[in-house]
Amino acid sequence: MLQTTAREIADLTGGALVGGATGDELVTGTAGIDSRDIGPGDLFAAFRGEHVDGHAFLDAARRAGAVLALVSEDHGIPAVQVDDVREALSALARGQLARARQENPQLVVLAVTGSAGKTGTKDLLGTILGAAGPTVAPVGSLNNELGLPLTVLRATAETRFLVLEMGARGIGHIAQLTAIARPDIALVLNVGSAHLGEFGSIDAIAQAKGELVEALAPGGRAVLNAEDRLVAGMAERSCAPVVTWGFTTGDVRGGELSLDDQARVSFALEIPEGLTTLDGDPVGAGSFPVRPDLLGEHQAANVLAALTAALVAGVAPAAAAAALDGATLASAQRMQALRAGGALIIDDAYNANPDSMKQALKTLAHLGRSHRTIAVLGEMLELGPDSVRLHDEIGRLAVRLNIGQLYVVGDGAAPIHHGASLEGSFGGESEHLDTVEEAIAELERTVRPGDAVLLKSSRDAGLRRIAGPLVEHL
Ligand code: ATP
Ligand code: MG
Repeated sequence: MLQTTAREIADLTGGALVGGATGDELVTGTAGIDSRDIGPGDLFAAFRGEHVDGHAFLDAARRAGAVLALVSEDHGIPAVQVDDVREALSALARGQLARARQENPQLVVLAVTGSAGKTGTKDLLGTILGAAGPTVAPVGSLNNELGLPLTVLRATAETRFLVLEMGARGIGHIAQLTAIARPDIALVLNVGSAHLGEFGSIDAIAQAKGELVEALAPGGRAVLNAEDRLVAGMAERSCAPVVTWGFTTGDVRGGELSLDDQARVSFALEIPEGLTTLDGDPVGAGSFPVRPDLLGEHQAANVLAALTAALVAGVAPAAAAAALDGATLASAQRMQALRAGGALIIDDAYNANPDSMKQALKTLAHLGRSHRTIAVLGEMLELGPDSVRLHDEIGRLAVRLNIGQLYVVGDGAAPIHHGASLEGSFGGESEHLDTVEEAIAELERTVRPGDAVLLKSSRDAGLRRIAGPLVEHL
């Protein structure tokens, strides 16, 4: 956070100084809502969540070094009191970003949205930009009206690149986030079926994601996926110039895309003549090899997207490509490759929807050339009325892709097993297991050196609990 006094915070949030605060308390650190993350000089925001009331941790935050709190109730601790702590954090973030931009005209704000791959792409941007200058790109998802202001508040006077993830569960959500932090570069990855249940239709999802592009100023840049019709179509909603990327079409190209025998992607970053940065400088044409330690073609799309945005932000192409050499994602459980006991475990159990399921299964199928393949699949949540059919189709796809062994875990995922059983002759077998514990026991018994094991479900379906014990066992 930029150094800010309690009085300035009270002004920005419309709050009152309470608990003996003089107004001269100086916040020199950052803002946090968890007292365990608080350090000297920080601002502690006493946020009242569904289960926990942050006001209970005011003393702990104070002991940890918080110089000031943001509260909705006066507890006798130096604080700024507001009606709504979350809204106050947003107002504070908005004010701080305006000041940061004024004090540091070099600051570039990049925002990423899309149905799948936001966090992974944000991590890749963190890696590329972090090699070029001071960058704020937090680990994890932090893409909503609470996480986003907290991320913005991590920016300091030195920050050159601020990378934000923006998620939407409905129309108007991204517009709310861009009202807190208007991006200079708006990166839209894809429009797919994630959260379809809440949105109702794919067109509604496109409408919502496109709000990111609408937030750009004329001097900004929209960076769009040329191969996704609904994303490419957002160009007409941008008053800023547009740069597209893709493997078969688009301005910036990924050439010679291939997967090695471990399903790791590589391609050539191909830059055309005429591409310019946000500042109007020429990027320069050329071709650069890109070889991260990431599995699956869908990750290649995110890599190309991140590279294109980084070039527009002013990173030199050779440096951008080099920064990704052997790179993995900072956030765990997104196609995370774990190598143990001669087996390859792909932990992709952070979240799941039909698109990311398909991509993960295709990646596993590629590994089938050199590995015995095992898919351990759980329920995809929040799919709405088509849920059973969409699960059924995943089971059928697993059969068509010739996956060696399929384990379907939990009641909600059972239609995957039914689909696989009905699809007919199968290279291997499908088995339904009731619980994650049964799945762990089964895998510990059967996984051998040379196996490739995919773990995938929505987070709350629990398959994220498998990799730890399994890797330990192997
Ligand atoms: P959330 O909405 O939970 O924040 P997100 O958009 O941040 O999700 P990630 O956490 O980066 O997405 O990845 C979620 C899942 O989507 C992972 O399984 C990842 O491998 C997969 N994924 C990433 N990119 C794509 C893509 N282009 N197409 C399909 N699946 C993808
Ligand atoms: Mg995310």
